[in-house]
Amino acid sequence: MAIASVNPATGDTLHTFDELTDDQVEQKIARAAAAFREHRRTSFAERAERLRRAADILEAETDELARLATLEMGKTLASAKAEVAKCAKGCRWFADHTESLLADEPHDVGDDNANVFTRYEPLGPVLAVMPWNFPYWQVFRFACPALMAGNVGLLKHASNVPQVALAIEDVLRRAGFAEGVFQTLLVGSGKIEAIIDDDRVRAVTLTGSEPAGRQVGARAGQNVKSSVLELGGSDAFIVMPSADLDAAVDGAVTSRMLNNAQSCINAKRFIVHEQVVEEFTRRLVSEMEGLRIGDPMAEGTDLGPLSSPDAVETLAKQVSDTVAAGARLLTGGHPIERPGNYFAPTVLAEIPDGSPGHREEFFGPVALVWTARDADEAIRIANDSTFGLGGSAWTRDETEQRRFVAEVETGMMYINKFTESTPEVPFGGVKNSGYGRELAGFGPRTFVNAKTVWIN
Ligand code: NAP
Repeated sequence: MAIASVNPATGDTLHTFDELTDDQVEQKIARAAAAFREHRRTSFAERAERLRRAADILEAETDELARLATLEMGKTLASAKAEVAKCAKGCRWFADHTESLLADEPHDVGDDNANVFTRYEPLGPVLAVMPWNFPYWQVFRFACPALMAGNVGLLKHASNVPQVALAIEDVLRRAGFAEGVFQTLLVGSGKIEAIIDDDRVRAVTLTGSEPAGRQVGARAGQNVKSSVLELGGSDAFIVMPSADLDAAVDGAVTSRMLNNAQSCINAKRFIVHEQVVEEFTRRLVSEMEGLRIGDPMAEGTDLGPLSSPDAVETLAKQVSDTVAAGARLLTGGHPIERPGNYFAPTVLAEIPDGSPGHREEFFGPVALVWTARDADEAIRIANDSTFGLGGSAWTRDETEQRRFVAEVETGMMYINKFTESTPEVPFGGVKNSGYGRELAGFGPRTFVNAKTVWIN
């Protein structure tokens, strides 16, 4: 795949970039290794000051940075601005909290003469393989805690967001991080394995699809390097009879359509109790049909284009195969005839077992609806997925709330609220949604050597 910015709203190629040569990659890894030797010696206060400066730059330059994301991957300008603001918040949160999260941890071994503790040391250069869908946030989610912990970063961003990738390096450099502390590698995925194999690269984190995660995780394992995988999801959104239906319908549409319906934690499978399924579905269809589709740069647009023509083609096939298997199409179901990668908001019900709707992640504006007789059946359907990222359940019944929290197999479970991420709260999945956690206290402790020290 070429490294290029192609506007998803028009199909126009804005910029193409040459992939780095092997020699250039080598130089960047060497620079990362050299920068690590210095960066690890900087104090938390120095790193925090730089991260706070990065937050200031992000805020001062929100409009230009957001525009770049909208041009390259098609999210609405309003959501791109919110994403940049969230990155600034992330910078400040990790600037404020990392030192205490990584403070030495004393252990009582019952001997007053022994000084025993765990000390957290950085690992070195960490490779981050990142997706285009939150082109700033996914990177800052990794970079803030990693740099605060004393590591240095090598970013292999998705090939369709090279300008955002370069802008992130530029922001962090201007914020005062030394040369080599955070570098963008403009390379395709074909060069990743050699980078993981390099001894100087000490760990890898990937946010992206399951196939990419399997490949990167396997390579890290062969090299005995630690890895974090944040992969796809097909999050359940359970609605029970006691739910506030206005809030549930509103939450359903907002969550499904967030980020042009291309977020790992969009609600994707709607599992609705038979007593309320008719009304819920009718209102869901009506809300989906009322969305304003259009230019992502324009104010008031709810739904912009998908990231690429391939994304439209994949989604169209998933929908038609699910309908061919027996699902009921309630609205949409087709690409929209206009320039750019637009797909009509779609609702499918009665999803057959074994169909793509049952097994696969739908990365676009398609809501899949199941009917459940009771909480048992809702939990069974929710867990009948190879994914286990987030999930939400809408009910005022406290017994049901406890059951959904305890029995739905996910990394995150939200009650009467759709799944959202914020720096203060851990993020990650189970099953084929990956392993490891990011954000909150887990972020800084992910890529560190927890060294046991015993001094007598
Ligand atoms: P993707 O195709 O897997 O790409 C993600 C990154 O991996 C890109 O940098 C890509 O590079 C690289 N890549 C692709 N194939 C690879 C391979 N075989 N080996 C090594 N690297 C490879 O995913 P995407 O389409 O950009 O993103 C959508 C997916 O990410 C969805 O499944 C979504 O749910 C998931 N996601 C998960 C989270 C989470 O936190 N759990 C967050 C956001 C998105 P190229 O662009 O050069 O191919």
